[in-house]
Amino acid sequence: MPKPEAQSPSLRQIPKVHTLLEMPEALALAEQFGRETVAEAIREEIDGLRRRLLANDRTAEPPTRDSLLQGTERRLAEGKLARLQPVINGTGIILHTNMGRAPLADEAIRAIQEVAGGYSNLELDLASGRRGERGGETEALLQKLTGAEAALVVNNNAAGVLLALTTLAQGAQVIISRGELVEIGGAFRVPDVIAQSGATLVEVGTTNKTRLSDYSRAITEETRILLKVHPSNYRIVGFTSEVGVKDLEGLAREHGLILMQDLGSGALVDLARWGLPHEPTVQETLSAGADVVTVSGDKLLGGPQCGIVLGKAEYIRRMGQHPLFRALRPGKIVLGALEATLRLYLDDSRLMQAVPTLRMLSQGASELARRAQRLSSRLAKIDGLSAVVTDGEGFAGGGALPEMSLPTKQVRITKEGWSAGQIADALRRARRAIVGMIADGVFILDVRTIQDREVAEIALAFARLSP
Ligand SMILES: *Cc1c(COP(=O)(O)O)cnc(C)c1O
Repeated sequence: MPKPEAQSPSLRQIPKVHTLLEMPEALALAEQFGRETVAEAIREEIDGLRRRLLANDRTAEPPTRDSLLQGTERRLAEGKLARLQPVINGTGIILHTNMGRAPLADEAIRAIQEVAGGYSNLELDLASGRRGERGGETEALLQKLTGAEAALVVNNNAAGVLLALTTLAQGAQVIISRGELVEIGGAFRVPDVIAQSGATLVEVGTTNKTRLSDYSRAITEETRILLKVHPSNYRIVGFTSEVGVKDLEGLAREHGLILMQDLGSGALVDLARWGLPHEPTVQETLSAGADVVTVSGDKLLGGPQCGIVLGKAEYIRRMGQHPLFRALRPGKIVLGALEATLRLYLDDSRLMQAVPTLRMLSQGASELARRAQRLSSRLAKIDGLSAVVTDGEGFAGGGALPEMSLPTKQVRITKEGWSAGQIADALRRARRAIVGMIADGVFILDVRTIQDREVAEIALAFARLSP
């Protein structure tokens, strides 16, 4: 049987890769993406077309050079979108897990640059020349800032919870309220983490009400930990009651149990001092009697992605020696960024400005209004665009401050002949992607998470949208 190629005139007409590569359009693409990448994209384009022609797909375009090169360009553009790259966050959600949570402070970025490009004293004690403690200085800072006896840094908070439960409760029982058996974005489900640690989950109370007596009745010889989990991204309101760490402390001491709190957002300062709603801090949770507290480094704390475990020296020491810790420990880049971020907490007067998460959270109404005005007046100058500033409601996000709505300023943008979805699609494909929101069929940018220096870039992206 002859090869199918021999039968189809369309297949024979497909140009060769090297022929296409020499065309001016391809040469221009090669300058942008590199010759090898373009050649690869042309090959993929040709393969796709060949498959469709062989399948007798009537929608397959005739193999002209132009159509193949256009397809190649689309392929390269889509490939570029898949790369990890900076975006402009116009959602107003400060801790957006899909957009990388906390932007780092300049000091943290500098620390990364300094340790990333060369060698460092990651596990080298410069004073003695001997082997040093990875993360030693970071842990010392954490102790100083929180009053914890000891601290340990891991890859994320989920890792911290897993390490704590595995080290301290494997083969034993962990008691938790039914109101705290939560799922927190990205498939962190408390029951699953407990199961993975090899501990047995013992649920007590009900979804909305759990009393001290529920905990005390559930305690057996096998019980090792009383676990509290900050419900982070939701609240049970109405007819409710829960038992706080302070009330559980007596019970834990009486029975020789470990009292553990997964705090999640991990505020190191009381936000109420800056007029924001109160979030439980690490310090107050420890002083209320928690033996072990876990938090995320990249939520309210405003640092790199990591998890921080704090508490009694004996427990933290055991976690650090557990084989699982070796699989969960962070690298120099994370430790450098975290140490630099924590140092900012030593200076109260600069803290709110220096840590972007806290700066965005504490922005005043006048600052937001001024930025919204600047953005809208620049957009309104563009043909066919209309931009209106409105009051809106923003959220911190990232499992922090769930019931707190932050009054914010939003710009509602419409473009003649365009739907909100079309605007959103085109802006995600801008030179630097811009991510906004759509509500009531209108495209919206919230200026809380937009930097002043990004205003001009946003206006330029809108001006570049085809008319
Ligand atoms: C966010 C959160 C987690 C998960 O933290 P990661 O750092 O994303 O692993 C776990 N528990 C609580 C209470 C949280 O808020």
